[in-house]
Amino acid sequence: MVDSKDLLASVSDVSTETEYFSPIPNGYRKGKTRYVIVMGTVMSGLGKGIFSSCLAKLLQDKGLKVTPIKLEGYLNIDSGTLNPFRHGEVFVLDDGMECDMDLGTYERMLDQNLSRANFSTSGQLYQSVLDKERQGDYLGRDVQMIPHVTGEVKLKLRRLAMESNADVVFVEIGGTVGDLENAFYIEAMRELAYEEGPDSCCFVGLTYILEPKALGEQKSKAAQLGIKQLMQMGIQPDIIACRAESRVSEQVRQKISVFSNVPFERVFSMHDSASIYTIPAMLRDCGLDFEVLRLLKIEDRINLRHERAEWARWCDFTDKIGKEKYTVTIGITGKYTSVRDSYASILHALEHSGIALSARVKIKWIETTGVTDKNVSAHLRDVEGIIVPGGFGVRGVEGKIACIRYARENNVPYLGLCLGFQMAVIEFARDVCGLGQANSTESDPGCCEPVIDMLPEQKKIEGLGGNMRLGGRDVELKSGTIAWKLFEEKTQTRMRFRHRYEVDPRYVAVLERHGMVFSGKAPDHPIMQILEIPGHPFFMGTQAHPCLTSRPLRPQPMFVALVASAMRRRYPDEHLCDCVEASQKVRT
Ligand code: GLN
Repeated sequence: MVDSKDLLASVSDVSTETEYFSPIPNGYRKGKTRYVIVMGTVMSGLGKGIFSSCLAKLLQDKGLKVTPIKLEGYLNIDSGTLNPFRHGEVFVLDDGMECDMDLGTYERMLDQNLSRANFSTSGQLYQSVLDKERQGDYLGRDVQMIPHVTGEVKLKLRRLAMESNADVVFVEIGGTVGDLENAFYIEAMRELAYEEGPDSCCFVGLTYILEPKALGEQKSKAAQLGIKQLMQMGIQPDIIACRAESRVSEQVRQKISVFSNVPFERVFSMHDSASIYTIPAMLRDCGLDFEVLRLLKIEDRINLRHERAEWARWCDFTDKIGKEKYTVTIGITGKYTSVRDSYASILHALEHSGIALSARVKIKWIETTGVTDKNVSAHLRDVEGIIVPGGFGVRGVEGKIACIRYARENNVPYLGLCLGFQMAVIEFARDVCGLGQANSTESDPGCCEPVIDMLPEQKKIEGLGGNMRLGGRDVELKSGTIAWKLFEEKTQTRMRFRHRYEVDPRYVAVLERHGMVFSGKAPDHPIMQILEIPGHPFFMGTQAHPCLTSRPLRPQPMFVALVASAMRRRYPDEHLCDCVEASQKVRT
């Protein structure tokens, strides 16, 4: 018989005799790690990830060790096969995990590299349960959602707690309370709180306050019903965060408080904010951070001196937002031009660089399907910089090549990301090296000058999903090049990749002979990773996705260089820094 008190003491208390089933990792110390669990009601897309990452940042600033985990309801094993048009960009972690874009929000806000331990889907959990079932791990019991799948969720959280040695794990549950596919996560959280005991978990209900234009006042009924649904599932929220367009009135907060059993001082207004980077200050001003510390009884773990220093650094950054002296327009070509979320990291990277350089970066979206050499100048006349971002397939590629040609010939600063790097190689091969038939086998499998071809290891792979060249890789920098200067004259840097195609090594010599410089290469394979064209104000491409590693206080150097070069183009009389000087200035 297992007593509930002992439940967490034993290592492998998988019992056939009792109703308890809660696999605990070896060496797990109950009470060391606390959990903040964020769930959304009323609707999805409220910014749970933003809320949770901002709160996590406030605790991290206080010297606590924090780590997030996103629990997704869908059955896909990862986000790699998801259409960014429907789901936002696929974010790639250093260990190669393809995950939800919220992981990008956490990495940026916490300035931390995350791993596959920070991301889970229902598909992963079911797969692991089914594998265990086949191995006979369940000792003859019928395998059920409760306790086995919920057990798997708790195991994942506790493993993360142990491996990260975190004071607080932030658990974000995807979707909305009431979704069938997320219900087992919520049940798992109820069990977790029960097993871990009082003060171990802080439940946050993120809800939405409607403000119909026709009524002109804030209405809380939908929020009340959403919270009620959470309570019906056995969870009493400790904190309610009310998302709304404008500040939530005291009266509405009172109503929510009464109906949800949450004290008034723990019902917060989380109204819209101009920049996500000003949200931590909003949460801090209303005392949310200390409320959480009190609930979890970990006030004694904080280091206020650490917080003062971190907060000062952060405010130096946020104080610049909205006070930019310059404005530049960057054209971004892209297939998913109607969905900004598909390019979230690029937009953030531009924002980080812009704030550092005192430039407001405006974006002009360019749908390239109709762009040709004849009409390209009409599309690009009013931009000071161009980005051709990552992408797959053939649609719009000739239009992208026309944009790149325009950038190269007219000295418009250019940054090519992954597909944009490959297209820059094709453009250069066609127009400068005289290889008129140059192309990528991705767009034209039978082309006779395949300057971009599938990576050798990719040719053996069948099927899609988790099998591209993925994750963080070292990049060897060629000394004396712009890239080398941007990366502090180091011989090596690290970037994140997600691609199937590459520059065919057989064409490298001819490209180099005609003036293209490959300033970044893989150390162990002939894979070209960064290109530049000397003599151009700024023309760079990379096989990587540098936007994924740009952080608010450490903007990614290629983006800094692009924005700085765009500023010089826009303000020729102001004698602004060139791209290398600007990147040095931003670092210091
Ligand atoms: N489609 C190209 C490849 O697979 C580029 C990929 C990307 O831009 N992420 O190599």
